Amino acid sequence: MNQRHRPSDDLQSRNADQLGRRVRLVRKFAFEAAHLLPQAPEGHKCRRLHGHSFKVEVVCEGEIDPETGWLLDFAEIKQAFEPLVQRLDHRYLNEIEGLENPTAENIARWIWARLKPPLPLLSQVTVAETCTARCEFMG
Ligand SMILES: [Zn+2]
Repeated sequence: MNQRHRPSDDLQSRNADQLGRRVRLVRKFAFEAAHLLPQAPEGHKCRRLHGHSFKVEVVCEGEIDPETGWLLDFAEIKQAFEPLVQRLDHRYLNEIEGLENPTAENIARWIWARLKPPLPLLSQVTVAETCTARCEFMG
């Protein structure tokens, strides 16, 4: 058998061509902020002023561009999110317009509303208040 020609190579490259191109990119961010939840039941601990090291995941979904080999530049996601970090980091969230009731759910929606225009491929925004609790918003 010819050492230079292995039929499995042909098979692999043919299979690779037939694969789909759908991908999901995930870029992580973090910010620190204080909040309280005015709509929580009376006596609930979240009604007291407290802070979190919020973790945010921004997800974009679509097809790999055959020319560039990527969906979009991760730097585009960072660029789109940067102005939002400026508005959220080391702030009292309840004072921000649209975040008067800053639950993880509402923060995720607030971020989505501002990220979707510059990032049309946005498919999910995740906001985590702790390492065991997070909200995933899909638009
Ligand atoms: Zn909280």
